[in-house]
Amino acid sequence: MKFQKTLIVNLAFALLGATLIFFFSQKGLLDYLKLSALDFSFNLRGPISYNPRIVIIEISDSDIISVGRWPWERKWLSALTRALSELGAKYVYYDIILSEASREEDDSLLEEALKASHNVYLPFAFQNEAHNYKDALIPIKRFSSYIQGTGATNIYPDIDGTIRRVPLIFRDKEKVYPHAALQIAMDYAGLKIREIDPRFLLLSGPKNETVKVPLIKKNTFLINWTGKWQNTFKHYGFLDVLAAYKDFLDHKTPQVPISDFRNSICLVGLTAIGLYDIKPIPLQPEYPGVGVIANTLSDLLDKSFLFDVPDWINVLLLFLLALMPAFLISGEKPFKETLAVFLLAFAFVGVNALLFRRGILLDFSLPLLGLVLNGSVVGIYNFIRVAVERQNFFNMAVTDGLTALFNIRYFKMLLDTEIIMARADRTKIFSIVMTDIDHFKKFNDTYGHQVGDLVLKEVGAALKNSVRTSDIVARYGGEEMILLLRGSILKDALNIAEKLRKSIENTLINDQQNTYRVTVSFGVAEFRGDDTAESLIKRADEGLYKAKQQGRNRVSSVEIK
Ligand code: GH3
Ligand code: MG
Ligand code: MG
Repeated sequence: MKFQKTLIVNLAFALLGATLIFFFSQKGLLDYLKLSALDFSFNLRGPISYNPRIVIIEISDSDIISVGRWPWERKWLSALTRALSELGAKYVYYDIILSEASREEDDSLLEEALKASHNVYLPFAFQNEAHNYKDALIPIKRFSSYIQGTGATNIYPDIDGTIRRVPLIFRDKEKVYPHAALQIAMDYAGLKIREIDPRFLLLSGPKNETVKVPLIKKNTFLINWTGKWQNTFKHYGFLDVLAAYKDFLDHKTPQVPISDFRNSICLVGLTAIGLYDIKPIPLQPEYPGVGVIANTLSDLLDKSFLFDVPDWINVLLLFLLALMPAFLISGEKPFKETLAVFLLAFAFVGVNALLFRRGILLDFSLPLLGLVLNGSVVGIYNFIRVAVERQNFFNMAVTDGLTALFNIRYFKMLLDTEIIMARADRTKIFSIVMTDIDHFKKFNDTYGHQVGDLVLKEVGAALKNSVRTSDIVARYGGEEMILLLRGSILKDALNIAEKLRKSIENTLINDQQNTYRVTVSFGVAEFRGDDTAESLIKRADEGLYKAKQQGRNRVSSVEIK
């Protein structure tokens, strides 16, 4: 029964936690967390295979130092175009938008090279969110007439500025425009767009074979990062490629393995510091834009996709995991229960990592948050509840029901401890005081036991409230009470007892009918080195007897002051 009640309260806490997380996530307040979790998955998984046909040609700092400031004269692009064509490259993609004319002789050189090779892709860029092709930055006509293809280069970062997804298709009123990476991949594999769905893109080939590319929010493709910049794809320097081509023409051994270019897709982009747009990606804080194209292209060619599970599965997992602490935690075994929650969290992250390797994307951040948050909330609640329960149990065991003072059993325990300590340390002194209400039998007979009980309570409270917190007041039995006064020698104890006596004498006790007044006699004894609990109590009792003998309502002791 009690267990059931705990479970229900636990479940209420856990449900509240899960609902709050769900609510906040719907409001977008946990987006950063979700993105960090995704990045964590990429980092945990590490590199995967990339398409070996993709070759990156970098315009790096050393090229800029050799050739001069960017933008270069276009004869350099024409030279590279011709070289790559001669070396057998299948496609060449310049991650550069040639939207304006330059010097006539340069432009005509490039035009000739494009015409001769006919394997070059030149991108364009939409200038606004509406994706109007009319306003786009497009390559000039004399170039675009001779290119193999084009495609958009726009990529939009997530709210934290990190690149994670690529819009594969853009649409204005008239047409669908593939992203450059998609266009190159489709051309390379001989595929066409067959169907565009918000959740996927269906590509099909001449023999009706199909490729289903998963899309996530806003028709974007989640890049399945192949690895860090320095570890993935073949990279060559712009001038190194030209030099290798020259060596090849001169029948010398080129520094660069020129066979790498045969049938390759060469992506040419800027990587010189300060020239390329630095894009943070999940694996690295700085990543060249051309690398984003390379990864997207590699994923598309190798069908290396991440499929995200339907939203309802994520919500279900959130509630499932967030409710687990309600069952795991009861506060009885704090360590084991905390451990169970953490093990579950680890197991869940582990399962996620395995699924991620297989291309299945769960949003594990919210269920994990739910588990940990509710683990803490339910944990704290239960640990406190159990501690309070134990405290109540203890209090019940050591207190007297009527007066709420300590009972004699507990008092004797404390007294024994006090005696042991006083024996070990001679500077520790204490006294005890026995009290007994005067003529209480008569009082009971006159006013009844109920009034007697009330008086007992009031006397007990008066004693308790008049001594220091370090002193101990207990009910000895009947209408007798006993006090342990720490640090008090006999003289002090007598003074304290006298103060108590006066205070009770002057206390008016009221019930609905009457006002009552009682007096109390006190017997005091100071601890001596050879005292036992019994001998000490006995001496106090003798003092009390003496007080009664001498006429009651007084303080007495049988010791030499
Ligand atoms: P004395 O001045 O010599 O102490 O006289 P007394 O009548 O108080 O004598 P004694 O201490 O022997 O009396 C104890 C009485 O206390 C007996 C009983 O009626 C009363 N008493 C003991 N326990 C309780 C209790 O729990 N409630 C009430 N109402 N009375 C109690
Ligand atoms: Mg008595
Ligand atoms: Mg009495």
